[in-house]
Amino acid sequence: MKRVLLAEIMHETNTFNRIATTKPDFETRYWHEGLEAAFVLKDTNTEIGGFIEAAGDYGWELMLPLAASASPSGPMAASDWARVKELITAPMRAGEKFDAIILVLHGSMVTETSLDAEGDLLSEVRALAGPDAMVAATLDMHANVSREMVSAADLMMCYRTYPHVDQRERALHMARLVQDVFDGAPRPKLVHARIPMMDAANHGQTAPGQPMPGLLELADVIEKRDGIICASLQIGFPWSDVADIGPNVLVTATDETAGRRAADELMQALWESRHETQLEFARPQEAMALALQGRAGDMPLVLADFADNPAGGAYGDSPNLLRAMLEAGLENAAFATISDPDSVVVCQKAGEGATVRLKLGGKGAPELTPPLDIEAEVLWLADGQYVCAGPMWQGVRFSMGLVAVVRKGGIDIIISSVPTAVMDLNVFRSVGIDPEKLTTIGLKSRNHFKAAYGPIARDTLLVDAGGIASMRLKELNYSRIPRPIWPLDN
Ligand SMILES: [Zn+2]
Repeated sequence: MKRVLLAEIMHETNTFNRIATTKPDFETRYWHEGLEAAFVLKDTNTEIGGFIEAAGDYGWELMLPLAASASPSGPMAASDWARVKELITAPMRAGEKFDAIILVLHGSMVTETSLDAEGDLLSEVRALAGPDAMVAATLDMHANVSREMVSAADLMMCYRTYPHVDQRERALHMARLVQDVFDGAPRPKLVHARIPMMDAANHGQTAPGQPMPGLLELADVIEKRDGIICASLQIGFPWSDVADIGPNVLVTATDETAGRRAADELMQALWESRHETQLEFARPQEAMALALQGRAGDMPLVLADFADNPAGGAYGDSPNLLRAMLEAGLENAAFATISDPDSVVVCQKAGEGATVRLKLGGKGAPELTPPLDIEAEVLWLADGQYVCAGPMWQGVRFSMGLVAVVRKGGIDIIISSVPTAVMDLNVFRSVGIDPEKLTTIGLKSRNHFKAAYGPIARDTLLVDAGGIASMRLKELNYSRIPRPIWPLDN
């Protein structure tokens, strides 16, 4: 029986976010130590769920010391990062031997003590596991892959969908490659390619008409060649001021020369897709012009406030788009969410039905996204818990922290206690709002919302209302990225 150590530490870090990410931030999504992770995640659309299924199919003996995933945010606190590494490596330090170590990672994680968290972790795991053990990792499509990660691992691949809905599927695929080696297949080699650029293929969106589906077809063709096992396209994460920023390619090959050729070919294709990356997005005024065309009974127009998207590691507290919606006098509209625990407390003290004065949001980056002074009616107070209806994260319980819903004019505003990227319809339903009946929805997201909101929307629009996840990259102060780099330099 093969012994496999499985662990997850998943965090996408926006290095422009000044607030450290701690264990309690992970707990709003999940942080499970030991077997608890298996009970909670085995039937979910997660990598851990997929690996548990595979372990059953292949008869692996599984050890699962940690499964932790947080919403993107600022660098992880030093002490919590030390704890993560301690938990994941404890079985090996205690002398346990494993045939494979499989890590579920993001690939764009930064901590207070490491600009390349996954590289550090994989190197430590490799040193402890020895050269004979397989070291494999699954990554998010937005991984900034480092040389350290590549040299420590035998197998790495990322998702092929954005919105990301193939976590479980990718884990099953990775598990099969690991089992192939257990069954005697030649041990593969990882080949990596990169060209200095910050974004490609419109951030990896896999909807029809985008460049990514064509690039993935090319990857499929390449995977059928002799000596190639897997071709993985990482789009990278641009809001991270690190040396390894940007789109990159990983090819897993038994023939290294063929692997190198394939990696360079795919990287060139990613480079050529850069002009299809949208760098200018709608301004709030344009969005309002579109929203005002909505009539009662229409399906909702969904406006995505992506420059303050917590899934891009932003503060999730910018009222800029909401302010535009209020000034436009929209009716039958709702906004999710403004992260502002202080305002939630004010609403709780006042109670449902009361009128409150709030200085709403705008605390993270007031120079870009100042607070909103409003007087509003408290409609609903809730615990902020919801179980995702899916398809993304289907079945997983998330928390917005304590929430208050307030009404100002024709707009219901969900105020959360933690930054909340809106991917699921149950964000609204959990506080008594039926998103399908709204004329206009404003939400914090860039692309993930489309999996659930696309089917109920008359249209979706990405709005750049300012924030630290804006695509106006020239306005952010990078100091560690390599130069020259596209699109900052010509
Ligand atoms: Zn991603």
